Amino acid sequence: MSKKINDIYSDLTELIKKSTKSKKKNLFLHNPYFDNKEHYYLKRCIKSTFVASAGEFIRKFEDSLKKITKSRDVITVINGTVALKVCLEVLGIKKNDEVLVPSLTFVGTINAIKHAGGNPHFIDTDSDTLGIDIKKLDSYLKKITIKKNGVIFNKKTGKKIFAMIPVHVFGKIGNMNELIKISKRYNFKVIEDAAEALGSFYKGVHAGNFGHLGILSFNGNKVITTGSGGAILCNSKKLSIKIRHLVSTAKVNHPWDFLHDEIGWNYKMNNLSSAVGQAQIEKFKKIKKYKTKLKDRYKNNSKKFKNLIFSDEPKNCESNNWLNVIFIKRINLNDRNKILNLLNKNGINCRPVWKLMHKLKMYKNSPKSNLSNAIKLEKSVICLPSSAEYGKN
Ligand SMILES: *Cc1c(COP(=O)(O)O)cnc(C)c1O
Repeated sequence: MSKKINDIYSDLTELIKKSTKSKKKNLFLHNPYFDNKEHYYLKRCIKSTFVASAGEFIRKFEDSLKKITKSRDVITVINGTVALKVCLEVLGIKKNDEVLVPSLTFVGTINAIKHAGGNPHFIDTDSDTLGIDIKKLDSYLKKITIKKNGVIFNKKTGKKIFAMIPVHVFGKIGNMNELIKISKRYNFKVIEDAAEALGSFYKGVHAGNFGHLGILSFNGNKVITTGSGGAILCNSKKLSIKIRHLVSTAKVNHPWDFLHDEIGWNYKMNNLSSAVGQAQIEKFKKIKKYKTKLKDRYKNNSKKFKNLIFSDEPKNCESNNWLNVIFIKRINLNDRNKILNLLNKNGINCRPVWKLMHKLKMYKNSPKSNLSNAIKLEKSVICLPSSAEYGKN
């Protein structure tokens, strides 16, 4: 093993041990944070026999999410991926419409576009915010689009550019106001993938409230969890009525009769998951406080390592600090993998960022812009153990 790799490995180990202040043998990337409340609410839920599409926790959890996000309506569903798909479909995506989306994201974002009949069109990432590179996007769109009757098309493929999905990676948010301005100029829809960003704000506005619709995820590794689960953030009364109807099998309200007036989905979150979600969200303030404390320690402790740069909160962004990220200076993929191997072998659960989406075999022929920043980031990003419990130490 080269000296450089060993040095970085021992720097990272020191940084992580010092920042998590954990004496445990294994350090996890992101554990859920539970106490007795989950047990208590689950028991209450089971005792009530209302475990599925009715019960006290469904609305309660949605109302709690509304309080934090200040969205007009929040509709909980079975996961974040279908939440994205529903958003694209209710906003009217047509077959083969293109959706602008960063290559640096979780595969669920891209799968949702495909499942809704669209095609991903990959754009580059900003190295500070880890969101869309806005400057690059603007000049790229100038070059490759043409407007016909107010609708924009990709000149090369001839397809309509229907929407953009900004992703708030690791809870960070870039300049959303600027991004929305661009979307208005070009006239496409914006759906925010805020799967990782519950509790993140840009200029005081919660993630997911800038575009036409936004989504959250409550998968096991997210900042709060319902096992699996997701939500749609909606600020239009008309759309929220439509979404609520469609994700609940399009059933017309009636005390005992079955009438379905559209082809709906069975995507609504059940009462069991909502019970866990409600227990989680009641301590979200505490979880966020612990995560902020852990972030501050990572940030301060990283200053002394010359090969490591901490990825701080972007300007005007209050992040939920879902995952703490370090950039390794001047590194290639091969060496990065060796470092990750060492860390994981020794019980420190660090992860790379996702393999870029335009490299996956299903998506390698999709249209794309120059992706030089994302390619650099893919090599240099290491996600550090970020469980809330470490902030408690
Ligand atoms: C987790 C995640 C999703 C998908 O959420 P699921 O609930 O797992 O379907 C989508 N996008 C991003 C960026 C995510 O991190």
